[in-house]
Amino acid sequence: MKTVHVKVKHGGSSVYVGETLQQVSQYLPRRKVIIITDETVEKIYRPVFPDVPVIIIPTGEGIKTLATCKMIYQKLIEFSADRNTFILGIGGGIVCDITGFTASTYMRGVKFGFVSTTLLSQVDASVGGKNGVNFNSYKNMVGVFCQPEFVICDISLLNTLPAQEVSNGFAEIVKHGLIADPALFEFIESNVDKALGLDFDVIEKLVYDSVRIKAEIVEKDEKEADIRRLLNFGHTLGHALEKTAADKHLSHGMAVSIGMVAASEFSRQRGFLTDQDCLRIRELLQGLHLPVTYDADPARIIEAVKKDKKRDADTICFVFLEQIGKAFVEKTGLTRLEKDVRSLWEKTDHL
Ligand code: NAD
Repeated sequence: MKTVHVKVKHGGSSVYVGETLQQVSQYLPRRKVIIITDETVEKIYRPVFPDVPVIIIPTGEGIKTLATCKMIYQKLIEFSADRNTFILGIGGGIVCDITGFTASTYMRGVKFGFVSTTLLSQVDASVGGKNGVNFNSYKNMVGVFCQPEFVICDISLLNTLPAQEVSNGFAEIVKHGLIADPALFEFIESNVDKALGLDFDVIEKLVYDSVRIKAEIVEKDEKEADIRRLLNFGHTLGHALEKTAADKHLSHGMAVSIGMVAASEFSRQRGFLTDQDCLRIRELLQGLHLPVTYDADPARIIEAVKKDKKRDADTICFVFLEQIGKAFVEKTGLTRLEKDVRSLWEKTDHL
């Protein structure tokens, strides 16, 4: 097991990579604990949950809403949860976001922790203290910055995860290599088959490196005023695609993959990234069974970008790559972005 400590101004958390769900009780405080999980995780893993009350939520991005939080507040009251109660989220990114948000707001905030059960949540969603829900068509519009006490990343839980969900996690791992660590990017290139086969040592290294990179960034800029924005690489268009495709199946990881390919292409057009590196990025994502193109109306994508909470009047902070392993943020006019999106999406292989 490897541990990463995330230290921020008011507190922090410990992330245990390689620890198991079976051992979670030793991290829990000696007071009332309530678990929040989703239907799928509950079905598979309930027998190894600690013996405490469980609140079960449905699955899917559509349930990441205030209505679900309201249901949870109601259950917490029924279970007589007070300010000393500890809330444990066991699940993927959606469970972590909802658990973190409800715990941080119930009675003005109670302590919470996560057992992270998807690759995406282990390498990203459960780390860093951003907890929020969607509001109407706005993604993660309502939320808080609040660190969990601990996060357990149990690699063995990934064995029951559908293959596409595993690939979704790879999108965020590739992102971490692209923005901060060329050696990580090369390691993934050399270990695609082992990664897809969930080789324990390879996955443990990928999760640990991702958590380490994210922790270093969060420690410098917890509230996303500066370098934490780098973590949004591929996400401006990714979130827009997720919204545009609300009626079809386009997961967060898949949308981020397409968003990263587009952001790499825009970086190449601006004279930063070489043709060869652009191709390497595309090929690695494809090798990890992630999509690199998507049939969408550019006008709808831009409409969705305009609803991004990071937009500032007619500009948005967009993350570009200077090279593999080095990213930067630049305020970009929405008119320029619209032109770039239109020209990229009008290329035949994007239709
Ligand atoms: P998810 O939570 O929906 O999980 C995907 C599916 O896998 C669900 O159906 C779930 O029930 C199932 N599942 C979970 N663990 C399983 C297991 N071990 N075995 C079998 N099935 C399992 O999706 P996700 O990809 O983990 O998270 C996506 C969400 O995370 C999005 O809402 C995104 O916005 C959010 N996110 C948040 C942050 C953040 O910093 N807060 C960062 C990245 C993503």
